[in-house]
Amino acid sequence: MKPLIGIACSIEESGFTVGTDYARAVHSSGGIPVALPPVIADELVPELLERLDGLLLSGGDDVDPVHYGEEILPENGQLEPERDRVELALAREALRRGVPILGICRGMQVLNVAAGGSLYQDIPSQTSTRLQHRQRAPRWYATHGITIRPASVLAAAFGVTATRVNSFHHQAVRRVAPGFAVTAQAPDGIIEGIEAEGHPFAVGVQWHPECLFERDPLQAALFRAFIAAAERRSAARAGAGEDAV
Ligand code: MN
Repeated sequence: MKPLIGIACSIEESGFTVGTDYARAVHSSGGIPVALPPVIADELVPELLERLDGLLLSGGDDVDPVHYGEEILPENGQLEPERDRVELALAREALRRGVPILGICRGMQVLNVAAGGSLYQDIPSQTSTRLQHRQRAPRWYATHGITIRPASVLAAAFGVTATRVNSFHHQAVRRVAPGFAVTAQAPDGIIEGIEAEGHPFAVGVQWHPECLFERDPLQAALFRAFIAAAERRSAARAGAGEDAV
């Protein structure tokens, strides 16, 4: 069976939306994408993750700084309290259960906060970087370099330790969560990738691979590595089910 990948929805005026690019990236990498609307009660999160083989935390608005113990600054952006609640609960439970997680942009930030890390609420006003992280270029175009830690899930997927990525963020990981390692950094030191140590696949990336994967084989390989981890979970669960019978 193909692995079932839950994708966190964004909140639009018209309703809850799964980004087209996320769904297409999961589908073309061999997964079955399903939408996770931000209405799920906390007590249903374990039951939901019992049925999913992978969790994709998508991009979106800013995480409420209250979740990492800070008061909100003027430069912090739009909040989505329903998404924060559901996605933090999903991230914590998926980390606990070993469900493969790919956190993209906001999703990487949610992953870090869920595990006890913090964020820069606003890169331009809280750091001295002169690198442009809110690119003014098409979404499929890579505008800055990153270096990748050799011993990482990310490096294993990419097969290289440097590449270029797109960039659509004004926040970034500040204090890395306990149990996580930094796996990618921009030339200015801004953290662009993290992963949980000792977890089958809990990878966060600050860029948007779903906008690059059709043109960049490295980003396609990242999605394939995520889906492969979900396939292993799916197979292991099927095996456990047979044992129970
Ligand atoms: Mn960036």
